[in-house]
Amino acid sequence: MALIVQKYGGTSMGSPERIREVAKRVARFVKEGHQVVVVPSAMAGETNRLLGLARELNPEPSPRELDVIASTGEQVSIGLLSVALHAIGVKAKSYTGFQVKILTDDAHTKARILSIDDANIRKDLVAGNVVVVAGFQGIEANGNITTLGRGGSDTTGVALAAALNADECQIYTDVDGVYSTDPRVVPEARRLATVTFEEMLELASLGSKVLQIRSVEFAGKYKVKLRVLSSFTDVNSTDMGTLITFEEDENMEQAIISGIAFNRDEAKITVLGVPDKPGIAYSILGPVADANIDVDMIIQNASTEGLTDFSFTVHRAEYKRTMEILESKVKPAIKARGVVGDDKIAKVSLVGIGMRTHAGIAAKMFGALAGDGVNIQMISTSEIKTSVVVDEKYMELAVRVLHKAFELDKEPTQENMKP
Ligand code: ASP
Ligand code: MG
Repeated sequence: MALIVQKYGGTSMGSPERIREVAKRVARFVKEGHQVVVVPSAMAGETNRLLGLARELNPEPSPRELDVIASTGEQVSIGLLSVALHAIGVKAKSYTGFQVKILTDDAHTKARILSIDDANIRKDLVAGNVVVVAGFQGIEANGNITTLGRGGSDTTGVALAAALNADECQIYTDVDGVYSTDPRVVPEARRLATVTFEEMLELASLGSKVLQIRSVEFAGKYKVKLRVLSSFTDVNSTDMGTLITFEEDENMEQAIISGIAFNRDEAKITVLGVPDKPGIAYSILGPVADANIDVDMIIQNASTEGLTDFSFTVHRAEYKRTMEILESKVKPAIKARGVVGDDKIAKVSLVGIGMRTHAGIAAKMFGALAGDGVNIQMISTSEIKTSVVVDEKYMELAVRVLHKAFELDKEPTQENMKP
């Protein structure tokens, strides 16, 4: 007997038919002798609908009231799933976040979980119930309802699994796992049987939006065994989806590169002709940081005649604001020659823990891109990731070229594990 937390996303809960399927799947695990805690999201589209209603009545609704409104989506889901379970003879009991009690901080619309009282859940599990807990919501110390940010039901699932010391947290979604890259860009993309938590964090933060990033961080911190799988397979399917593992537990043959992430969310800015002297990076990035703008990649070129160019990337939504700060504050202060920018760029990243121990990955990456005429504008590397900035036009080409060069369409073997 195992204790399993199952989280079902909005599409999995999208209609009475879908909810019936979820109930059948839960029933199967109960029949196999497991204790099951289920965390459903709101029905597909419901959270957007609720938030839309609020904005229709007030263009700037108060975050406290937004949480009162948005949390109802999940409340409906837990009730519906419970009655669907009863209808097929499964004992089940629903709990809102505040009934549990999932205590959070008071950052409305993006609250963080502080603690979970597991007493009621445990009692109900022992009495043979499936416990159905609303995702995405909690309560702060003063009794106000909070929500955990969009996609927050993932975090509820993982946090419950941690609090209950569950054997596994299963995230059921409309895709059947984590892929080497987006199959819409590369049809040969391969589903990964396992991916390490560190890689998943990079893949998620870089735009493979299978899991809410905070839930992955949470799973890493509390060592929750996390699995991503599809709720659209047959309820008796033994498909295991993708298991998110911890590097130290990883004893299978591991490819050097697990996946390729990409995003179009960035913009590049270059400050031209800045004097090459101590404090210059601070003079440029200080005012940007003061405006709460996050900087990603940074490059400073070699200088000629005491002048250098300084480039960095920011989120595309912050492009205009950053340009204004540089033009009005930084350029006159440091007597730079000019400021130029490009918001039609994209970032493509190779991700893999094998990079820690294998040299030559970056060179192979640059060679593959050069071979297809893709110009690299910026490069950054970390222990398990190498990223390049390219013209947005070439992003998909770059992803395809790299997927092929690193043979990510094939199962990892001795051969393609060599760099
Ligand atoms: N219903 C919430 C949302 O749409 C939470 C979730 O689905 O995870 O963001
Ligand atoms: Mg989701």
